[in-house]
Parts: sequence; structure tokens; C-alpha cells
Amino acid sequence: MLGLMQQWPLLCTKVIDHAAEHHGRREVVSRSVEGPLHRTSYSEVRRRALRLAKRLARDGVQPGDRMATMAWNTWRHLECWYGIVGAGAVYHTLNPRLFPEQIAWIMNDADDRMLFVDLTFIPLVEALAPSLPRLRRIVVLCARDSLPSSTLDLTTYEDYLAEADEDFRWVEVAEGDAAGMCYTSGTTGTPKGVVYSHRSNVLHSLIAVQPDAMNLRSRDRVMPVVPLFHANGWGIAFSAPMVGAALVLPGPKLDGASIGTLLRDERVTFSAAVPTIWLMLLQYLDANGLDLPDLRRVVIGGAACPRVVTEAFETRYGVEVVHAWGMTELSPLGTLNVMNADTADLSLDEQLALKQKQGRVPFGVEMRVVGDDGAELPRDGRTFGRLMVKGPAVSASYHGAQAGLDDAGWFDTGDVAHIDENGFMQITDRAKDVIKSGGEWISSIDLENLAVGHPSVAEAAVIGVSHSRWGERPLLIIVPKAGCSVSRDAILGFLDGKVARWWLPDDVVIVDEIPHTATGKIQKTALRDRYRDYRLP
Ligand code: ADP
Repeated sequence: MLGLMQQWPLLCTKVIDHAAEHHGRREVVSRSVEGPLHRTSYSEVRRRALRLAKRLARDGVQPGDRMATMAWNTWRHLECWYGIVGAGAVYHTLNPRLFPEQIAWIMNDADDRMLFVDLTFIPLVEALAPSLPRLRRIVVLCARDSLPSSTLDLTTYEDYLAEADEDFRWVEVAEGDAAGMCYTSGTTGTPKGVVYSHRSNVLHSLIAVQPDAMNLRSRDRVMPVVPLFHANGWGIAFSAPMVGAALVLPGPKLDGASIGTLLRDERVTFSAAVPTIWLMLLQYLDANGLDLPDLRRVVIGGAACPRVVTEAFETRYGVEVVHAWGMTELSPLGTLNVMNADTADLSLDEQLALKQKQGRVPFGVEMRVVGDDGAELPRDGRTFGRLMVKGPAVSASYHGAQAGLDDAGWFDTGDVAHIDENGFMQITDRAKDVIKSGGEWISSIDLENLAVGHPSVAEAAVIGVSHSRWGERPLLIIVPKAGCSVSRDAILGFLDGKVARWWLPDDVVIVDEIPHTATGKIQKTALRDRYRDYRLP
């Protein structure tokens, strides 16, 4: 017997339709690339997205065509996402921090037909253009009076929009059709194209807004500091309008002072970013004696969140920290650390310790940890193995390549983790970063988190270095805070007693800088290359 309910396709355009109709006056505030703050609303964003979709259709854009964006978080970028999917096409976010050759490779692999680009990146696009034979048009996200002279044939976004009106119906697509593309940032290998569908984006947003996940409400003012080009912008371009929350978009300025000013002046209640952004913000707040009276909750993910950050937010600023784990392939949210009935009564200190973990799955993500033989491991908070996931917003395969699904359909995340009896998962490493000492595993993330707890340490990385007796031993690499000096012995003394003795790094190297990937993560491959022949004492 079939259910007798309506077929209501889960389309991204339904999100902006809903926001415009029921939360039409809700603000979208942006720091523009040109400088000043810009204010618009969901009804206006939808109107301009309709014009863009109409213009694209008139330009011969076909359903399924890939439209690249290389842009900061602003209202124009948001309009592009909705205009592109509304024309039946596929938004493809590009990370401008990748190497130019990598960007060209990604654009050709995706077969991008048009590029929407911010003023900031025109020189980069001028350098890339000769390698992009199939790109038909470049639209710069600005008005005509801001357009610089260029060797390229450029159209401005405002001129492009001016040639169409909003009398248009979204191009009809099916919920399983592609809506967006985002390449993994290549931290551990060649970038791979993840292809989101309308359905997966809508379901991901429904998953994300649940109370034990991001807990978004129409009263919220949401600032995604995480760029739209990083892992589907953590889905916020869909989840905020879905609930009718206002958006505050930080544009190109992501330093502590600019973020701090926007958070305060725009009365932001909810924000999301990687740990490095929050470290910069906290330093700015501390140095200037400022607080954040409206901020209620921050989601911190993309890399492990050190306890110093959680503790500062929760005890000094009264902001709830939600530590989250995700991946481009998961749309991207996988787990979020929100207390449940078993943990809500723990002391503050115990909760802060628990928040080192990456958290629990919301409905819509299945998760388990398996050993080398593929059998599920016990949920005891200790036994770690490969983290496997399933769900309607998890990749089944990559653009032109297989994803690592096992026979039962589980996606291998490449992360190593354990899960405790209350369902809280903790990432101990990426499979490729784990240090294998005498057949036992040492977690580089645990050691890094402890090392950054030292008052003079700004950043820490731990890698395995080959060792004749143990196979591999940990080497700790640290960057001291500006104006601070630290010694090897002081750091080792600080770690002693906080981890098992055999986990203690064999040596400490003090450097000025640690290399980062395009998404701001520590580039362990580069560190391993640099210290390949390092002689441990
Ligand atoms: P890339 O794999 O190219 O770095 P992603 O941005 O998709 O691109 O990164 C996903 C990975 O980031 C995860 O597989 C995991 O290793 C790491 N990660 C994400 N969030 C966290 C977190 N809260 N703690 C530790 N690692 C994290």
C-alpha cells in the first residue's frame, strides 16, 4: 500500500521562497568588498535571484551547467547561489586560497561555464584565464563604477542583472538533481568534487536546525564567518533562511577586530567558524576589554577546538560553544557537541572536558567506528578505529570518481575516532596522521590540544618521525605567542603528567610559522616532508 501524501520536491529554491514569503523583511547585512555595510532583505534577495535566473536562462545556461563562484560571504554571493539553482544550474564554490594550478584543474574538472568573482580576485582570474578554454563568461560581483580595467572581457553583476526583470518561474528540476559542487580542500590528497543535490541540501538544513544541533530560530541573527566556499559554507546559506533568521555576512574582512565589531554592532546571536578565527577574536576582545552581550552560541569545527577557546567563551563571555565535526562530503555536518540528558548535570569543569569531543549525531546521520577487519568496535570512549557514516546528505560518489563506500554502504571518513557510552564521538586523528609507536597509536590531536594550553604557545603540531626501535615517535612543533619565548624542557614539563608517559613527544622544535592549507588547517604533509630525516635525541 502506498502512502497517500503529496509529492513536495525538496528544492533549494523552496527555501528562499519560504524566507521571502514568511520572513521577507528579515535583514541580510553584509560588509561589502568595496567597504561599506550593505543592507537588504530575504524578499529582495529572492527578487534579484529571480532576475539572475532569468538572465542565465536567456544566456543559454542549461540545467546541470556548472557556474563557479570565487567570492566572499556577501548578499551578492548569496543571490548567486539561489539564482544559479533557480536556473536549474549548479553553483560551484572555489576556494581562492588554493594554488592557482589547483584552481584551474578543479574548474576544468568541473567543466565550469561561467564564473562569478569578487573584485579581490580579478588578478588571480587574469592569471587563470588562459588555462580555462571552456569558460564562457566572467561576471564581477560589483557595479560598473567599481570595475577596474582588466586584460579580460568582464561583465559587472549589476549590469548583468539590470538586463532582466523578476517575472520568472524557477526552472523545473527534480529533487535529486545537482544543486551545488564543492571540492575537498585536498588536505590529504588530490581535490575531489562533491556534488550536492537539492534534496541533500534541504535535508541537511533540516538536520542542522534541530535543537540539539545548531538550534536556529527566526529570532537569531546568524553570522557565518566560515566562507561559503569552505565545505558548503556549513549549510548556513540554506539553514538561516529556512528558519527566517537574519544573516550577517562578514565579506572579505576576517580579522579579530572586524569580526568583533560586526558581532557587537549587528547584535549577532549565533556564529560559526574554524578555531583559528575564534583564537584571533578572543585575543582582540581580551586586548580591548570588550564583551559580546548578544552572542548566544558559536559552532566551532573544521579542526579540533582547543579547551582554551571553549573555556574563554563559556566562562568569560557567557557564550555556549558547540564543538562540531564535519566534512565536505557530509554537506558538511556530522556531529555536534550539545549536552544531553546524561551529561547536562555535569559540573562546568566536566562539561568543558567533554566538549573536547566532537559530539553526537543528529537524526539524519548514522555513525560507527570499525576495526581493521571492518567489525564495529565497542562504544566505550576508548577503543578507536575508522569512523564510518551514512545519511541522506553524505556523498555516494565523487564527480568522476568512486567514494570509499564499503559493501554495506558506509562512507569511510578517513578519520580515526572513538564513541562513548553516551554517544559522544571524539576524533583522535586523521588515519594518515596517526602516530604508530611500537604498534600502539598516539593521537596527534590530543597532544596538540594540550600543547596550545601552555600560556606561551600560539600553535602546535605533532607528527610522527621514524624511529629505529618504535617505528615512529611523536615530534612536537610549536609557534610561540608574539613576544613570548619557550624552551623544549618547559613544554615537555608542562605536558608531563597530562598524558601517558609513552605519549610524551621525543623532542620539541620551536619555529616562527607552521604551514597551513587553503582552509586554514595545519599542513601535516608539508611538515612530514620537512622533518622526514629529523634525528630524535
Ligand atoms: P579536507 O578533507 O580537504 O581538509 P574538509 O574541510 O572537508 O576538507 O575537512 C574535513 C576534515 O576536517 C575531517 O575529515 C576531519 O579530519 C577534520 N575535522 C573537521 N572538524 C573537526 C573537528 N571538530 N575536530 C577534528 N577534526 C575535524
